[in-house]
Amino acid sequence: MEENFRDSIGTITEEGKRNWIFPKKPSGRYYDYRKYVSYFLLVFLIAAPFVKINGHQFLLFNVLDRRFNIFGLPFWPQDFHLVVVSMIIGVIFIALFTVAYGRIFCGWMCPQTIFLEMVFRRIEYWIDGDRGAQIRLDKAPWTGKKIRKRLLKWSIFFLISFFIANVFLAYLIGSDQLIAYITDGPMAHLSTMVPLLIFTAVFYFIFAWFREQVCIIACPYGRLQGVLLDNKSIVVAYDHKRGEGENGRKKFRKNEDREALGHGDCIDCFQCVNVCPTGIDIRNGTQLECVNCTACIDECDHIMDSINKPKGLIRYASEDEITQDKKFKFTARMKGYTAVLVVLIGILVGMLFMRNEVEANVLRLPGQLYERKDNNIISNVYNVSTAMLTRFTIGLPAMILARSLSPSSSSTFSLSKTSTSDSWSCDRKAVKFA
Ligand code: SF4
Ligand code: SF4
Repeated sequence: MEENFRDSIGTITEEGKRNWIFPKKPSGRYYDYRKYVSYFLLVFLIAAPFVKINGHQFLLFNVLDRRFNIFGLPFWPQDFHLVVVSMIIGVIFIALFTVAYGRIFCGWMCPQTIFLEMVFRRIEYWIDGDRGAQIRLDKAPWTGKKIRKRLLKWSIFFLISFFIANVFLAYLIGSDQLIAYITDGPMAHLSTMVPLLIFTAVFYFIFAWFREQVCIIACPYGRLQGVLLDNKSIVVAYDHKRGEGENGRKKFRKNEDREALGHGDCIDCFQCVNVCPTGIDIRNGTQLECVNCTACIDECDHIMDSINKPKGLIRYASEDEITQDKKFKFTARMKGYTAVLVVLIGILVGMLFMRNEVEANVLRLPGQLYERKDNNIISNVYNVSTAMLTRFTIGLPAMILARSLSPSSSSTFSLSKTSTSDSWSCDRKAVKFA
């Protein structure tokens, strides 16, 4: 097979210019399933910063104030070790998933694919029409109709980008803060409005222009495919044995006995290429541009139906499954990744259970010496810093100070200790003198 298609990418011409892709509107069972998955994920993504559990935002990544909520549980910079373990687990999970199931994440769950294919692209189909109409409109001169369509599309794209930027901001600064800023009016918070407009511009650039280039050029996960995939990974694959037959693919002719002529089931209709959002021909084999979106599976299934051939000429399959008729196997590499993953998840769960509810540091006040008082009492002054890591109110022992900490608060205060004891209990955790 000619391999020179691997020397270039489908979205860039030989002159190095952008080859704009006009993918055909997909339809079929996988596209329907993907729509349902994406509706769920879109609702989740948009609602997550606005849902609260026990007063805590469901998901919050406030880097500036160093406040993080995951599934309604507050985390603090003191929990950084948990973040590191979670990230390692995430990377191994993605690696395991990719080794076994290829880029299934890209096609079904990646926010980039979901927003581009299920939001922006569908608006484009609604305004500009399907592939043919889009190509004609693109080539057409700037008439009133074209200007109107472009203005409508770009305005809607801008509004959605602005909306996404607001949701993104709710993850960063908190939904309460965002709503307060909106109620106060943008002019009262120009320092937030400017980054918001920058986010909007970035999202607009990505979804209106950069599009599939994110997956092909920018996404590091996409670049990892080369090392993670092997012949046993399940990917969207063209069954070249069936499609090419002995004498290769051939255009369809009515009443022709293709089997007798030694031609495969592929009728070279190019529908799988036309529908591909990254502009590749999956019949050339697995390529870095393929985001496993399944659009070509659906399209080829329609064609197979129309010529009375079994579906699945393009399907989820591994290279070995196609060439050697082998079924999916749990390989040694997958077993290794799974074992590491299970161990790490165990460690994370253990760490979560052993997580302190209160972190307290008790340090002697710098430069302060002990004081000898009446009745043979030695007095020392300490500085106590506490950080509340739970969402429940815990009363600290009166011995420290008659005060209670509200959820997720932190505070520093001074106290005098006149006891001879060197430690006291703070609910479940003992606070030791430094
Ligand atoms: S859609 Fe199917 S039949 Fe048509 S070119 Fe692609 S693989 Fe061949
Ligand atoms: S080759 Fe098929 S699965 Fe891969 S990106 Fe193109 S249409 Fe999607």
